[in-house]
Amino acid sequence: MNFIVFLMFFCFSLFAQSNDLSHRPKSFDVTNGKAVFVDFQTADYVITYNASTSSANVVATIKFNAPEAGLPIFDSVAAPSSVKLDGETVNSLEVKTPSKETTLRVINKLISVGEHTAIISVPLTTLIEFRDGGVKSAFWTSDLSERNFLERYMPANLEFDQVKMTFDIMFEGFTSKQKIYTNGVVQELRKGSKSSYKISYPSHFNASSIFFHTVPEGLTSELRFSLKSIDGREIPSVVYFGKSILGGFTSLETLKNKASDVFHELEGDYGSWPHEQLIIYNAGQGGMEYCGATMTSLSALGHELFHSYFARGVMPANGNSGWLDEALASWRDDGYQTLSALSGSSKMSNHPYYTRTTDMAAYSFGERFMGYLDGKLKSKGGLKPFMRHMVDNRKFSPLFVEEFIQEMNQFYGVSLDKDFKKYTYGTENFSNLKSNHGSTVHKKLSLKELQKLL
Ligand SMILES: [Zn+2]
Repeated sequence: MNFIVFLMFFCFSLFAQSNDLSHRPKSFDVTNGKAVFVDFQTADYVITYNASTSSANVVATIKFNAPEAGLPIFDSVAAPSSVKLDGETVNSLEVKTPSKETTLRVINKLISVGEHTAIISVPLTTLIEFRDGGVKSAFWTSDLSERNFLERYMPANLEFDQVKMTFDIMFEGFTSKQKIYTNGVVQELRKGSKSSYKISYPSHFNASSIFFHTVPEGLTSELRFSLKSIDGREIPSVVYFGKSILGGFTSLETLKNKASDVFHELEGDYGSWPHEQLIIYNAGQGGMEYCGATMTSLSALGHELFHSYFARGVMPANGNSGWLDEALASWRDDGYQTLSALSGSSKMSNHPYYTRTTDMAAYSFGERFMGYLDGKLKSKGGLKPFMRHMVDNRKFSPLFVEEFIQEMNQFYGVSLDKDFKKYTYGTENFSNLKSNHGSTVHKKLSLKELQKLL
């Protein structure tokens, strides 16, 4: 790494760290003490798939900074098989937040302020299938249900925390070579029946950023190409589908052309592609976005690629800011309609403090709210210049809805506080209203349904 690159990396790390601390949720009391949110510095995961036992497990080494004393919080849906804190064997407890809006885990050990290391082992049993001399495994996420980001598969922090993550992947005893689709830098360390890979992810990633999918070679069809960014980069791109699933009904060429159209449209509106690559898994359903990657259908592709700018570019720090990118994406999907008036209200910004999921009203009422803001700001150029401003200035630093509002007020030189208050901090629940749009682009899939898409 040359000095300038080192300096840039160092500055970004400091910035990311202060953003993590300023977005860290408040501590809360549990039976054994005070549960405190900590700032993960690095998370290195050793992920082992074992052919002879048809099992897999993850050992996470997490270095973290505790800004206050208490019981450190992390999350993992699977109960850990072992937890070590600073070399000592300890245990962890599942706890609910004060208003019971979410469930988390705490390490059952009071710690002091400062740097600590946790080594947490968990079995990996979700979205995994041993077959054809290899293994199918994916870490697909969703923000529509509780605890469906990285914590669904391995120990992780909440969305506010940006962490430098690495995966050491071991495939033990398989006869088939594995294919890996992921939005990190992949290094093959060892070939053969004990093959291993190291994957490094950018330091701005959080628990909702990683796209990871591995399958035995030969089960997917793919097309690799590059897209020329307006900043001069050739963005390495791939579209693929599983040969045995519905996604195969759309040709790779069609997917590539659509991806290319959307890519250039988005670069025209919001500047150069924010990521190092583009990965498109055409599963035929169940759209979800990642940093420069998506699992999608052809019809949701535009929506999901937009999310590489808003959601995985300009990132939400919690559940109450999650609606912003869905409202904006839906607004784009319907051709950026301008509205002169709006009736109704929602509580999209007003869910209990520790909420981690996105309000489904984003796709319907949220979209209309963006159209309304666009109308209101028409004389100042409408909403799109502000969106561009956000990508230029707030990319890769998770934010609260309140910061989004503040940025908008500053950008236009008028206060929009009353509009956000009236339409997004209400008490009405729009999430029970059927939104065809939301359920089409991000169809809520059960694990059983996802398993079929592996
Ligand atoms: Zn979306």
